[in-house]
Amino acid sequence: MATEITNHKCPACTGPLHFAGASGMLECDYCGSKFSVEEIERLYAANEAEAAENFEEKEDKPFEENGTEWTEREAKNLRTYSCPSCGAELICDSTTAATSCPYCGNPTVIPGQFTGGLKPDLVIPFRLNKDQAIAALQKYYSGKVFLPNDFKKRNHIEEIKGIYVPFWLCDCETEGKALYKGSNVRTWREGDYDITETTYFDVLREGKLDFEMIPVDASTKMPDEHMDAIEPFDYRDLKPFSTAYLPGFFADKYDVSQQDSMERISERAKNSIKSELRGTVRGYSMVSTINENYNFNSKEVKYALLPVWMLSTKWNGENFLFAMNGQTGKLIGDLPVDKKKFWGLFGAIAAPLAVIFSIIAILL
Ligand SMILES: [Zn+2]
Ligand SMILES: [Zn+2]
Repeated sequence: MATEITNHKCPACTGPLHFAGASGMLECDYCGSKFSVEEIERLYAANEAEAAENFEEKEDKPFEENGTEWTEREAKNLRTYSCPSCGAELICDSTTAATSCPYCGNPTVIPGQFTGGLKPDLVIPFRLNKDQAIAALQKYYSGKVFLPNDFKKRNHIEEIKGIYVPFWLCDCETEGKALYKGSNVRTWREGDYDITETTYFDVLREGKLDFEMIPVDASTKMPDEHMDAIEPFDYRDLKPFSTAYLPGFFADKYDVSQQDSMERISERAKNSIKSELRGTVRGYSMVSTINENYNFNSKEVKYALLPVWMLSTKWNGENFLFAMNGQTGKLIGDLPVDKKKFWGLFGAIAAPLAVIFSIIAILL
């Protein structure tokens, strides 16, 4: 049982190792030794093979001491493991692949979640650390005019987590055909007459567009809008997957299948070819689309883990969620709006409009 889970231990002092984005190496929390991903991989290869073998897609076992508790856990699809460092029981969700022990704090990896058909092809290692994520959030606040001062002032980060989020990266091709109606208007004066001439054109566009590695997150836990908004990731940092990048972070295996992700991918690809084709129709004063047809064909799909910092804050009883790209630092999230500040600025614009509207209302 204990071999299902791995604590990456420092070969020098057996202290816990974590992956550090700045150095790109595994660093020991205690003695400060650093090890390359390759070194740790070599050291843990046998260990992980064994862990994978012992790992099976199993049902949760009933907890002897309490039958009702089991039903609840089973319903939530939870799994239990024992921490190899302190022996404490870890309760994880069925998709958890890397976490840290809540008792001893040691980073733990569940290699079985990433073996066989579940093994990711690629990973982009974290480059930015927790402090950088917190600093980025503060910076994000600073430029926001309508943010309540009280929200800005207090450091109320409820939770911050570095998560390797499962993504599908899809190579695909699209084909499209669209017919537009374009028109140009010319006006001139002849004697007492203003003459307007409108010329109509049938505009046909046809094209193909191929895509490499369109990303879509494959985790139901991650809000799609946040994940789409922190793109792009720099694919030049893609590395062959290794569990050695995980210690110190959270990781989930996918719970949205390739098939179920296809609609989102196809939608994105079709929107791109649509706007590309439309972009080539120039030189008309008006353009309308008469009909259009787009085809999508997926080719290769790769499974990758991409680094994301998730930050959540609570304010006035509401939750605000932020996501930061753990590689590029791009950060997005929802912010509360200070209604006083908002109306202070927009009231001036809103007032004259209200007058115009009431005049129109009177005229009617
Ligand atoms: Zn050490
Ligand atoms: Zn522990």
